[in-house]
Formats: sequence, structure tokens, C-alpha cells
Amino acid sequence: MNKINKMMTAEQLLHDPLLNKGTAFSQKERDLFGLNGLLPPRILTINEQKTRILKNFNSKQNNIEKYIYLMGLHDRNETLFYRIIIDKIEEMMPIIYTPTVGEACEKFGYLYRRPRGLYISFKDKGNIKSILKNWQSNTVDIIVVTDGERILGLGDLGANGMGIPIGKLSLYTSCAGIDPSKTLPIMLDLGTENKDLLNNPNYLGVKHNRVRGNEYNEFIDEFMDAVSYIFPDSMIQFEDFANRNASRLLKKYQNNYRMMNDDIQGTASMCVAGILGSQKITGRNLSEEKLLFYGAGAAGIGIGDLYALAVSKTGISVENARKQCWFIDSRGLVVNGRDNLSDDKKPFAHKFKQLNDLTEIISEIKPTALIGVSGQGQAFTENAIRKMSEINNRPVIFALSNPTSKSECSAEQAYNWAEGKCIFASGSPFNPVHLDGKTHIPGQGNNAYVFPGVGLGVVASKTKRVTDEMFLIASNIISNSLSKHDLENGRVFPPLTKIRELSLNIATAITKSVTDKISKDSIENKMYKAYYDNYDT
Ligand code: NAD
Repeated sequence: MNKINKMMTAEQLLHDPLLNKGTAFSQKERDLFGLNGLLPPRILTINEQKTRILKNFNSKQNNIEKYIYLMGLHDRNETLFYRIIIDKIEEMMPIIYTPTVGEACEKFGYLYRRPRGLYISFKDKGNIKSILKNWQSNTVDIIVVTDGERILGLGDLGANGMGIPIGKLSLYTSCAGIDPSKTLPIMLDLGTENKDLLNNPNYLGVKHNRVRGNEYNEFIDEFMDAVSYIFPDSMIQFEDFANRNASRLLKKYQNNYRMMNDDIQGTASMCVAGILGSQKITGRNLSEEKLLFYGAGAAGIGIGDLYALAVSKTGISVENARKQCWFIDSRGLVVNGRDNLSDDKKPFAHKFKQLNDLTEIISEIKPTALIGVSGQGQAFTENAIRKMSEINNRPVIFALSNPTSKSECSAEQAYNWAEGKCIFASGSPFNPVHLDGKTHIPGQGNNAYVFPGVGLGVVASKTKRVTDEMFLIASNIISNSLSKHDLENGRVFPPLTKIRELSLNIATAITKSVTDKISKDSIENKMYKAYYDNYDT
């Protein structure tokens, strides 16, 4: 945490969001730092401040207004911001992250108020180190970086994608107690293909088509070298890179840098956790599942790979385990012999006839789970879901595409069409569904169950690399955290209110896999708690 020191001026204190307490500065602090007269006289507690903020928050007309209001607070007083997010995580997460953050990114040029994080454009090639040195500190635990090419399911939003690293890092702090002063959002502005943005006078990124090929690769190589040199203790999370870059960059860097890709590894861990959770309801075991993925991009293939790793722990080879995963992409079922099959899909291509219709594919393959990672809203038809529940007692239906408009089906559709039998989870949150006297609580397959805890474990253990095994550890911890009550309600993810405890457990298990020298208590003690430091003592 940034600490107040005696040399600080009133101006500095009031305008540093990491130190500002607003109306909560004590009388002693007001005397010491010359704050008397600069603040209204009544001194409030953090809880009184929270009540005021929540009243204002609740008076906002819609989610984007709420987002703007919270970001204003984030820029003024981070402690209060995090106190509110932590205490009201279920209500706040859909505002500070998906789905609202998607709309915020689309409108980034209009919503931009104050700088946060670093922008590095392709014009800075050769000079990246010096830009990184402009950051206020070289003590950074977590960096989230994007090039803005595949923002949620919304596509190429160029420099507007900065809302994503900012949002993700807020979740690191609220869900796992990563010190906000040690987080760094980075936007790599490599241009955009988004014509609307290129023609928009309010677009704040470089108005240039995307840089590709060697120039792109050299830029990212330089960035990775520079960022690991300037911030040697940081874990670098890649976020919302397009499929064409996400998987290959992960493969290229994961063994040489302390990095991970949340869209691939975090999603995989979350989804495998969901499947493991569903098995506590269905009674199936790992080798009995047949997973049908609708979408064979970075997220889908990542889930397939991690699932195969999980199955391989039962003694089955990874190659055989992959046979339990089937993929559909925009050209239909992924089968052997199809033209131009990319290398990452080939291990999952089955010797099977080419089919295109989802319901027909379900009838032929008889999957136990249907997992949507296509970014195609409403792709799961009534027929497809009815077929899933005809084949299975308890079909697993995960509609993971974000934001809500891209979800492959809604919770209501899934439960209705499956006549209440399905185990459902989605990427964006849906309200509980009441059907035939029973309430079904849809799980939110939120990566926030995974990456904050993994990041905390990586930081605490000081491990040099982030491995796939760590993500599997996270999946197991998440599914084992489900209560009897969760399972009775068909929930395969625990309530978000448990998330800090869950992140701590993930971090402890990851740390244990690396070293036996760090205890759970010592990790917990270092977690940021979002209360004001008391300067009076
Ligand atoms: P991607 O672009 O890499 O992959 C999309 C895949 O969908 C491609 O294989 C494409 O061929 C396929 N596809 C497109 N149109 C199709 C169609 N009509 N029929 C069948 N397949 C089709 O994207 P990604 O990174 O894999 O992400 C996909 C979606 O998953 C996004 O909407 C994203 O928001 C979501 N996602 C959710 C979570 C989460 O809920 N926690 C995490 C990561 C990604």
C-alpha cells in the first residue's frame, strides 16, 4: 500500500486516489497535513461514506451511469471504492466487469476522464522500456495487457479496450486482495480494423489499420523483454487478444516469462471447475463425459486441453482424453480431413462425417455437455436443448459467450426447453429462473473465480512460471468448495460472496505446489483489505 508520509502536502493527499480518504481524514491528519478548511468539517467513518455512495449509486438510471459513477470514485478514493466492491461483490461485479464493461469499452472515447495505466503504441517500437519507466513505481505484482482486438465477444475495439485491463485489475484487488498500488493496466495500441472507430472523432487510439506480421511480433517481443526487465516481480496476464495471436503468443512466452492468458487458461480452469462441479450432481466421472463445444477458438480449445489434462490424471493418455472433446466451428463439425484445419484443432478432429446442424450433431454424437464459446448469441436452439435433455438425465448446458447479447441462450430458455433438467451456467449473469415451483440458480462461469486466486498464488510463491497444472489446481479447489446447498440448487459455481476465501484457498494450494515455506496465514495477512491506514498512531 502507498503510505501517507509526513512530507506530503494537502494537495497531494487529496488528489492521490490511493491515499485520499475524503471526508474520513481524522482531525489529527487534518491538523498535520493542513487539511482544515479544505474538507467539510464533519468527519465520517468509512461505513458512513459507503452509505452515502450507495445511495448515489442506486439513484443512477442504468448500468452505464452506475459504471461512470463508480469509476469516478475509483479515481478519487480507491480504498472506499474497494470497500464497496468487496462488500457488495455480487451487485458490483456486473457493473465493473462484464457485461457493463463491454458497453463502457464501446463508449470509451466518450467516457474517458482521467488517465489510468499505460498506453504503448506501435509508434513506440524501439522505445518501449522508456515508456514503461514512466510508470509511478517499479514494484508491480500484476499487469493485465491487451491489444484490444477481441474485447469480450464484441470484437476489435482498438485502444477502447483499455476498460478491460482496468476492470480485470479491480477484480484482482477485490477478489484476491492484490494491492491496488501494485497493479498496472497496459493497452498496446497496434491500430484497429474497426471502421466505426477509425471514423469516430472521439476515438482516442492511433487512427491506423492494425499492424500485423513481423512488425507485430517484434513489437510484442520487445514489450515482453522490456516489461519483465522493468517489473521483474510481476505476473503478466494477456487479455482479449484475437484468436490468431492469443494461443500462439501463450505457447511462445509461457515457458520463458511469468505470464498467462486468462481467455485461454482462466476460462479453461473455470469451465473445467464447472464440469467437475456438475459431476457432483450427475455422478458421472471424468472419463464418462463427452463434451461438445460450440466454438473452437482460444477459449474452446483451451478448455479442451485442460479437460484432457484433468482426464489424463486418471491414467488415460492425453491423446485418448482429447477424444472426449468434440468441436463445432463456423464451418461445422471439426473432423479429420477437413480443409485448412488449424494446428490447434487437429488434435481434436475426429474421424467422422462432416455435419453442420447443431441438433443433428447432438443426435449423432450424444454429448453429455454442450459448451458455447462461439460469441454467437442465440446459437443454442430450442431443438438442440430439447435433444440434449432427451439424451441425458441432467444435461450440462454452458452458454459462456459474453456479453449477455452474445450468450448462446438465456438461462430462462435453457431451463424451460430442458424442462428444468439442465445444469446451466453462463458467461454473463442471469437472474434465477422459477419453473414448476422450483427455483433454478444459474451459475456464472466467471473467470474471476480463477485468475485472482492464481495471481495471488503466483505472487505469494514467487514462482517463475505459471503452469497449466496451477489452473487445474484452481478447478479442483473451486469444485470442492461447492456446498450441499449449492448442489441442491444446481449450482456449479459457488456464490461470489465466497470469492475472497476461495481465492485464498487457490493461492494457498498453488503456493504449496511450489514451496512449503509459505503458510495460508502469511498469504492472508498480506491481502489488501480496503480499510484506511490509520495515521493517528
Ligand atoms: P474466438 O474468436 O477465438 O473463437 C470463436 C469461435 O467460434 C471460433 O472457433 C469460430 O469459428 C466459432 N464460431 C463463430 N461463428 C460460429 C458459428 N456460427 N457456429 C459455430 N461456431 C462459430 O473467441 P474466444 O476467445 O474463443 O471466445 C469466444 C466467446 O467465449 C466470446 O464470446 C467470449 O466472450 C466467450 N468467453 C467467455 C468466457 C467466460 O465466460 N468466462 C471466457 C472466455 C471467453
